[in-house]
Amino acid sequence: MKNIQNTGLSIFLIGLTLFISLIFLGKYELTPAIFEQIVKDNRIKSELFINDMQTNVVGKEFTDPFSFSSEIRSASNNANVRHINNKEYGKKIWGKPHVFAYDIAKKAGTGLIKENKGMFWWLTFGLGIIGALLYITPNVITLGPKGIKNNGIYLNAATNRGWIGWFVFIFLVSFYLLLYFAPDYIVNWTYIVDPISEALSGNPAGQWFLYGFLYCVVMVVMAVRMYIKYRHNKYQILRTTSVLFFQIVFAFLIPEIMVRFQMPWYDFKNAFPLDYDFFFKWNLKELTNSGGIGLFILVWGIMLTLVIVPLMVYFFGKRWYCSWVCGCGGLAETLGDPYRQLSDKSLKAWKFERWIVHGVLVFALVMTGITLYAYFTGAKGVLGISTQSIQSAYGLLIGSFFAGVIGTGFYPIFGNRVWCRFGCPLAAYLGIVQRFKSRFRITTNGGQCISCGNCSTYCEQGIDVRAYAQKGENIVRASCVGCGVCAAVCPRGVLKLENGPEEGRINPTDILLGNDVDLMKYLK
Ligand code: SF4
Ligand code: SF4
Repeated sequence: MKNIQNTGLSIFLIGLTLFISLIFLGKYELTPAIFEQIVKDNRIKSELFINDMQTNVVGKEFTDPFSFSSEIRSASNNANVRHINNKEYGKKIWGKPHVFAYDIAKKAGTGLIKENKGMFWWLTFGLGIIGALLYITPNVITLGPKGIKNNGIYLNAATNRGWIGWFVFIFLVSFYLLLYFAPDYIVNWTYIVDPISEALSGNPAGQWFLYGFLYCVVMVVMAVRMYIKYRHNKYQILRTTSVLFFQIVFAFLIPEIMVRFQMPWYDFKNAFPLDYDFFFKWNLKELTNSGGIGLFILVWGIMLTLVIVPLMVYFFGKRWYCSWVCGCGGLAETLGDPYRQLSDKSLKAWKFERWIVHGVLVFALVMTGITLYAYFTGAKGVLGISTQSIQSAYGLLIGSFFAGVIGTGFYPIFGNRVWCRFGCPLAAYLGIVQRFKSRFRITTNGGQCISCGNCSTYCEQGIDVRAYAQKGENIVRASCVGCGVCAAVCPRGVLKLENGPEEGRINPTDILLGNDVDLMKYLK
């Protein structure tokens, strides 16, 4: 079996190495005809930009994306600086330079990868999937115990912040930095998923399609690992199936197919304020211009946040969303599962978590308030804060850095729910409802607890579950995402995730909670 695993690992690493090396391959040549079309499509009026491009880029062959993109980025930056200084705003090149450079690079790419998309898909995605499955499957079926007991996670360099963990961390962070801030460098990755994108939406793949596809692939492969590892636990099997379904069908397939039918791209399960740009002017404009379906999405989005989400949290706790539906939670529970024990369990982290996650919620609400005020009044901002600047700040700091680079990139260092625990404004909102008005609780049968600490070790939200179990107190915590792993790893069946009457849910002797229904006290 070890041989199969080693073969799987080698195949996976070959696929991964090829995937990374694709960045450095391929050729880019912007022909005069393509450039003319780009100028026309983007209504470019800057002679400066056109001259720069004609001198340095058009008709020349580039053998790497870095030099090609840097010429485009510098041509558009130079033109913009000059036009803004001369107040010639009509000549400005709109949009972010790296996104603009991506659009041009996508059209200008030539050579081996673009002409052999299928072959390169198999050499990268194909080998990666086959290798990962060969590695995962025998490990857990024949060598690994059921559940996660005695599995040596603290002796393994991949899961104890050892060198493999740091390597994965560097890879993930670099991947997110490229995705958000340098898509023009990863054009070759998008070519290999073009056929899939064209089959679904009718359009070539952009970097977000690539990300969505990769997200689904990674979740499916790691879900196989979850199925085998938690094969003794029905809750985990159903929950894993549910997140897979919502990710593949709701977040990936339906939005792409909607585009094919000239509808707006929309993920029906992505609730505001996680979907932070739902009330942005461009989105409201797109929805109001899209006829019946646009109106339906608008009403659905508002109902989801104001009615469906809190009502479901009342009946089932925030687990219905965070551990059964959400895409961020889905990735955390599949790709992130090997790292769940790395969450910080200290009281300091708990305090920090409450301030920061609610801070992000307030930030999102203030930004949305300003956005809506500006939308309805035509003002540029409120109290000297411009709509544009607060949206850009939120998008960069929370949408890109926190949710992407830190939220997923830091799995191998800080655990798998960094974003959900410290940054997600929707989780903060659901947490307030769960804490104060919900039927959900984890009950503990303290007499059976042997203090092994498995539950606390594997709680991805850093909750000291054992402390509650020993006191026989119900666990009613805003941050609990109801993943159920504490119950799955408990050798004594002490813990049960339950929905029941609100009376008696909070134990009056609970020193952590007491009669504390005062929000300020809770935030202290
Ligand atoms: S307390 Fe249990 S169910 Fe809640 S987040 Fe922690 S491990 Fe998951
Ligand atoms: S509740 Fe279960 S897993 Fe947690 S310390 Fe007690 S026996 Fe161990």
